[in-house]
Amino acid sequence: MRLFDAGATRRRRAAESSELTGAQFDAFSRQVPLLYFILLINTGAVAYTHLDDSPRWLSVYVPGVLGSIGLTRILVWLRRRGRHRHLTDGEIRQRLSAASWITAIFGISFTTWAFALYPYGDADAHVQIAFSTAITVIGCIFCLMHLRRAALLLTVIMVVPFTIFFVRTQNSILMTIALNMVFVTIAIIVMMLVHYRDFANLIESRKTLQDLSDANLRLAKLDTLTGLTNRRSFLEQLEGLCREMAGGCRTFAVGVIDLDGFKQVNDLHGHQTGDQVLEEVGKRLMRLQSAECTFARLGGDEFGLLVRNENQIESLLTLGGKISRVLKEPYRCAGANIRLSASLGIAQFPVAATTPHQLFERADHALYQAKEHRRGGTTIFSGEIESAIRRASMIEQLLREADLDREMTLHYQPIIDVTNRRVVSFEALARWRSSILGDVPPSEFIPVAERSDLVHAITLMLLGKVLGALQMAEPCVRVSFNLSARDLNSPDTILAIIDMIRRSAVSPARLTIEITETAVIRDFNQARHALSELKQFGVHLSLDDFGTGFSSLHCIHRLPLDKVKIDRSFVREIDFDAGAQNIVRSIVSMCRSLRLTCVVEGVETEAQSTVLRKLGCNVMQGYLFGRPAPVLNDPINAWSWRGDEANSGDMAGELHR
Ligand code: C2E
Ligand code: CA
Ligand code: CA
Repeated sequence: MRLFDAGATRRRRAAESSELTGAQFDAFSRQVPLLYFILLINTGAVAYTHLDDSPRWLSVYVPGVLGSIGLTRILVWLRRRGRHRHLTDGEIRQRLSAASWITAIFGISFTTWAFALYPYGDADAHVQIAFSTAITVIGCIFCLMHLRRAALLLTVIMVVPFTIFFVRTQNSILMTIALNMVFVTIAIIVMMLVHYRDFANLIESRKTLQDLSDANLRLAKLDTLTGLTNRRSFLEQLEGLCREMAGGCRTFAVGVIDLDGFKQVNDLHGHQTGDQVLEEVGKRLMRLQSAECTFARLGGDEFGLLVRNENQIESLLTLGGKISRVLKEPYRCAGANIRLSASLGIAQFPVAATTPHQLFERADHALYQAKEHRRGGTTIFSGEIESAIRRASMIEQLLREADLDREMTLHYQPIIDVTNRRVVSFEALARWRSSILGDVPPSEFIPVAERSDLVHAITLMLLGKVLGALQMAEPCVRVSFNLSARDLNSPDTILAIIDMIRRSAVSPARLTIEITETAVIRDFNQARHALSELKQFGVHLSLDDFGTGFSSLHCIHRLPLDKVKIDRSFVREIDFDAGAQNIVRSIVSMCRSLRLTCVVEGVETEAQSTVLRKLGCNVMQGYLFGRPAPVLNDPINAWSWRGDEANSGDMAGELHR
């Protein structure tokens, strides 16, 4: 039988492993009391039969000492049971080694004692000594099964001298018993070695299983792409921190980081490059990690942050600034030089909230505010944000419950061709007079509607009103209608819009759909697809708020656009800001080369209009020409047109009368 197969080296290594030593110690500590029990019983039995024939020191004192040592060892090992978990590997090995030697010494003592008794006994007593030795050896080998070295040592110590001793007596019965014992012992030793091998294998496979399950557990807590903690583990840590800090005076903060412009990276460079960027983000965040500050990937391009023992707004803002700076460094992936920014929202425990769910939600609210107002910066959850959230949830609730068809109307603002002073079209702008909140501006309710998915229904309802107004107006009247980013990303809404226009019998050419630059950037491919469908159907397309979303010429070139509307922010200081003038000049020239109509919005003064004309802008919209008004005016009467929101100081009336 091969006791040491090819796996011997592996097992030897396993033998050195702490798992095996621990398991040996466990098994050994269970068996040792039995071993000493066997020794005690046999010592007692042999001593008893020699009580009358041998000297007292040999039949009483020596077995008495052996018995006391044996009893002590039983007690020692009973106490040690299951205690190895508190011991170091070194201590366990030391104890096992000591146990082997003590067992050997005990064996030698027993053997020597039995030899010493032999001359005092008769033939029966001799047989009894042989018999006791044989069963002691067999019993001990079984008890020492998990401690190979001790078993072999004890066997050699007891069997070799006894065999020699009994063979030398020339007594055939004793010799037979001795040889019998040798063969049976050999067989038992082989059994023991096989058993030990199985035991070592079992422990090894248990360890492999444990390692695997540990690795699985580790993997289950990690994000495979970035190597950072994953969302589940992050939330667990957050829960743990909330529990730990509750009632104490220590604090911490939770942050949510979102990459600005990551969607574009995916759209323009492909998902593989996107993954490389995320990997690099993970590496950069990993470098910022410390015992106090840990990061996690929450999913997509969203990352989490836990800052322990730090709650000062100043320090958190500094940390946020550092994170933004690090993530803003260019990413060199797939031959491209990619630039991103990161917005951060932070909520402090216990100021912002005390439950993990609320804290996370508030960090997310702060992030939302950062993305809206401080793109690429850090926002810390505050009372102001809280009231904004309250107001938003109130608006959302009312948007769900109110009779929007009755409460929402459209106002129309003219867009003028200043070269011939004619209205080229009107922009339809939503107005909501809530029975509870009063007038709510679209800049407030549209984002809420977008977040809650109510925007699609609102868009279709408003489009119905526009189409109704167009049916009533002169056929030459055109209207620009605003579409939200969410609408653009919803194929169902795009289909519903086309279907509605088709059924209204209003020529699609009378409609211009306005979509913001940021809406296009959010999901470029989907936006392009939706715009192509609308364009094919026959509506005109206008890119709104141009200049705010950093879209490249490359993007605009790939969209089926008719118009570009320069954002109001460039017009505000156009009459004295050379920078703004340069931007407008280059947009105008870009529009010329792409054969796009360039519209400037937010023109409020004559001075602005003059500068804009000099820069080559001919189509304008703004309070100078007319405020949004509730009626869709006939362009023929446009010069006398005047928005009802305009006050007595409105220049539109004076200018165009
Ligand atoms: P927008 O599409 O850029 O619309 C132009 C906004 O500028 C309008 O604000 C308009 O009243 C305002 N405006 C026009 N001329 C001037 C001016 O000379 N000076 C200044 N300071 N402002 C001027 P309004 O109506 O409050 O709309 C705000 C935004 O809400 C719109 O910006 C648009 O993004 C969104 N919105 C409005 N109606 C709708 C709608 O029906 N659907 C969607 N999805 N969004 C809408
Ligand atoms: Ca618009
Ligand atoms: Ca605009």
